Amino acid sequence: MVVVTIELGINRCFLLEGKGGYVLIDTAYSRYHEAFKKKIQKHGIAEKDIIGIVLTHHHDDHAGFVAELLEASGAMLLVHEKALPHLAKGASGEDDPSYYISKRALRYFKLMERLHSFTFPPVIPRQGDLILSGEEPLRMPPELGIDGTLLYSPGHSSDHITLFMDDGTLYCGDAFMNAGWSNFLGKKYYPVYAWNRAILSDTWRAFVAAGARKIMPAHGDSFDASVVAQLLA
Ligand SMILES: [Zn+2]
Repeated sequence: MVVVTIELGINRCFLLEGKGGYVLIDTAYSRYHEAFKKKIQKHGIAEKDIIGIVLTHHHDDHAGFVAELLEASGAMLLVHEKALPHLAKGASGEDDPSYYISKRALRYFKLMERLHSFTFPPVIPRQGDLILSGEEPLRMPPELGIDGTLLYSPGHSSDHITLFMDDGTLYCGDAFMNAGWSNFLGKKYYPVYAWNRAILSDTWRAFVAAGARKIMPAHGDSFDASVVAQLLA
């Protein structure tokens, strides 16, 4: 399967070639929309070639230009129901207390809150979009031509989902991070921030039990899933 990786600032978006088009895993901050168009063009891809958008969670650095892209492409949106209130508001945030991996990460985000709005153009699902509910896994719809299953994978956020490919590759959004800055702010492979740290560990355990082989985070480099068992030990 052809996988096109698009780097946009701190984000890495993936375009998976499916049946008659591409399925995109997440967007980036809304200001990167034009850069996205130019970068996919270099791969011979136009926005109308995008037939599905898997949004791993509602945070502004992932949902940034989903609304515009849905409009331009007519793609199917695949997202968890818990993301919908945040997407309707066009704002990142959870009502629950949050966990930071380190004091350094906490200080960084407190500073960010003063400099950055954590908002994006609101996303309203339309007919034909696929909304995951509860903890039910969802097989990718056959018309998209992607051999994988969407798993509810909470922890980093309460609405988080992961595309678990049949070959064991995980497009896992922020369930893991492995960028220079995230490893500097916190700990290698860990997201710098979590809505619920204990639930995140449960999600990691479920990945291992399901036979994860390769982790593709939205921030930073991919890595072998054997690392996850070590992180849990
Ligand atoms: Zn996030």
